[in-house]
Amino acid sequence: MFNRQFKFIVAGIYIHIPFCRQKCHYCNFFSLASQKNLSTFTDALLLEMAARKDYLSGETVKTIYLGGGTPSLLPVEDLKRIAEKIHQLFNVEENAEVTLEANPDDISPDYLQQLKATFVNRLSIGIQSFFADDLHYLNRVHDENQAQRAVKEAQDAGFEKLTIDLIYGIPTLTDEKWEKNLNYFFETGIQHLSAYALTVEPRTALAHLIGKGKLTAVDEFQSARQFEMLIQRMENEGFVHYEISNFAHPGHYSKHNSIYWLGGHYLGLGPSAHSYNGLSRQWNVSNLAQYIRQAGVEGSVDEIEILTKAQHYNEYVMTSLRTSWGCDLEHIENVFGKIMKAHCFNEASKFIAMQQLRTEGSRLFLTNKGKLYADGIAASLFFEENL
Ligand code: SF4
Repeated sequence: MFNRQFKFIVAGIYIHIPFCRQKCHYCNFFSLASQKNLSTFTDALLLEMAARKDYLSGETVKTIYLGGGTPSLLPVEDLKRIAEKIHQLFNVEENAEVTLEANPDDISPDYLQQLKATFVNRLSIGIQSFFADDLHYLNRVHDENQAQRAVKEAQDAGFEKLTIDLIYGIPTLTDEKWEKNLNYFFETGIQHLSAYALTVEPRTALAHLIGKGKLTAVDEFQSARQFEMLIQRMENEGFVHYEISNFAHPGHYSKHNSIYWLGGHYLGLGPSAHSYNGLSRQWNVSNLAQYIRQAGVEGSVDEIEILTKAQHYNEYVMTSLRTSWGCDLEHIENVFGKIMKAHCFNEASKFIAMQQLRTEGSRLFLTNKGKLYADGIAASLFFEENL
């Protein structure tokens, strides 16, 4: 096993709720624009949970994350059933971080009050933009008023752990509007932000509509410029850029996502969810009907991949370089050996010369300039099996 930066193994549970009110144009997650089978889905989820209760080998579960899809569509009663089952089957830490992704159109004082009575203690709100034309371009269900109101209501309801998502690089989002979106965020006083570049994934409505000339194409220069603006503004406001798309004040990092980035273990439940236990990676089937049929059958995961040493190394390089903890050459030598360490350093040298990477002690870090090319730089450091 190639456990990474955690001194002790840290484990989390991810639950995928695959229902949405409508499909956003850019979305390539597994989600259905329907709420049919919602209650059958929860039954299936509880069966899957029981069948896979040993996947984490009794490790303490420090985080639970309900993502999607739109988890805020799940009835609160179903959330309570999920919480009860998790606590029955797993060794959950008393103060575990429990995040629920919520869309602004589902948020109301009444819903938040009910949510407060469940195990959820952190909300991630999918704002994306505070402007109507951006939300329209993305085909989001909510409008700009709901975006503003949702944040305020979540704060009034007493949710102290809050994060929002914003998207930049939307063709309708001018630099001035991007500045304003960031200003709105700062005004809320929220301590965590996830900000993503709009990408056009194949087989999405966005790709189709741009291809037909019905929507304006995404401009990579605009995205790069707005990413640079983002980094600068967040730095000025004292946020740590702790992962390429994530910023937080110290002490407010997402514990769950840090598990992914630092090589911790996680059990993914629900259709299309991924799991990792330090040895293998598993994927659940991306089909709701099939998932419901198979749930509860031990070993019903769709695919299992036992990672080779080179794959472990490549994953380490890819995820660690994107974080503020950096990619540790000493760790690479200890875990993967001298040859991979030498390979990594040799390949990194040209990026150091171009000031896209910098070193500090035994660690490599992306510079702000390098962050624009993060994926390409990481791929250049990869180790091929037959090298
Ligand atoms: S709400 Fe999220 S999961 Fe649902 S369609 Fe939009 S982007 Fe996809």
